[in-house]
Amino acid sequence: MNKRPWHIRVKSQLAHLVRRVGGVQVRDAFASIVKHGRTPFDFVEQDHFTPLGDHDKAMSLFKRSVDMIEIEVFSYCNRICWFCPNAEYDRRSAQHHMDNNVYLSILRQLGQCDYNRKISYSRYNEPLADRIIIDKIAQARSLVPKAVLHMNTNGDYLTKEYLDELYDAGLNSLNIQIYLRSNQKYDHEETRQRMQKKLAELGLKAKITVDLFGHRLEADIDYKDMSLRIYGRNFDNTGCNRGETVEVTNQPVRTSPCLSPFYHVYIDYNGSVMPCCNLRSDIPEHQDCIIGNLNTQSSIFLIYASANAVAWRRSLVGFDRKDGLCKHCNFVPFTKTSVTTSVQDKLVAMSKTR
Ligand code: SF4
Ligand code: SF4
Repeated sequence: MNKRPWHIRVKSQLAHLVRRVGGVQVRDAFASIVKHGRTPFDFVEQDHFTPLGDHDKAMSLFKRSVDMIEIEVFSYCNRICWFCPNAEYDRRSAQHHMDNNVYLSILRQLGQCDYNRKISYSRYNEPLADRIIIDKIAQARSLVPKAVLHMNTNGDYLTKEYLDELYDAGLNSLNIQIYLRSNQKYDHEETRQRMQKKLAELGLKAKITVDLFGHRLEADIDYKDMSLRIYGRNFDNTGCNRGETVEVTNQPVRTSPCLSPFYHVYIDYNGSVMPCCNLRSDIPEHQDCIIGNLNTQSSIFLIYASANAVAWRRSLVGFDRKDGLCKHCNFVPFTKTSVTTSVQDKLVAMSKTR
């Protein structure tokens, strides 16, 4: 049986407590504070702003910094949700798998650095649409035994038997997202009905943990020792414009720093490594954002520590206006206070040291 590591159980309980009093953005910023100390930025160091050509130094920086690596093992999604670029950029007419050698190479490298944080099977595919996912999870469990294996699903393909198979393969954590029809805006009570229907199909009991009318409905599901959540949320309020490809209501002028390229790594099905969840290599306007490609560059650590990644990090520190595809991004903003401003001022200075 897969036991969740103690630090993941504690983190999950803290995140659960915070979810009860606020939305996802508050939770993520708070979780970051819990994770990294006095401010969310305390783990940032000079090496994040310095291209590294030494493999071991790059691996060490990765190990000290990255708490989630998201891998898109294939391209297909069955839906075209209005708040997702998939409404415009085709992910339904073909299926492209990540090269298995690339996938295994990523896992072996993570195993080499004894990676013990999250591997997420998400991005812009529906990970349960292809049963190959069972093999992919089993390979990860074998090669990166300490990692927390996580997935986000739209739930369309999920049955109780499929859930059991995922658990047996080594999955620790699953979020089931309740989505409505392709063009339908958030409807709290319809979300509740769909949630109840899915729970009845699965034959599992759940406890409501967030019920914020018009914003978010969420429940924890009781299933073995897996972290299993089901939720629906209003993307007009909490969604991102996904690098200027989606019209959501909340598109503020971004002045907040962004930590994504510091502690997350995103890998598309075609091997491209992206700076954040909002940017994807199959959108022409986003292709300048590609940090590296694992089909031609073997080391995920050297890509993480590359000049391209450094350039992204330099552009995202400080409480000033962000440019380009970040200009109106709503992803995990941080509040400007005297403490966070002081730390950010130091990071801006650090980022200018060559
Ligand atoms: S939000 Fe998820 S389910 Fe909807 S189109 Fe995008 S990837 Fe597919
Ligand atoms: S601010 Fe830029 S780098 Fe950060 S999540 Fe948004 S688009 Fe990505």
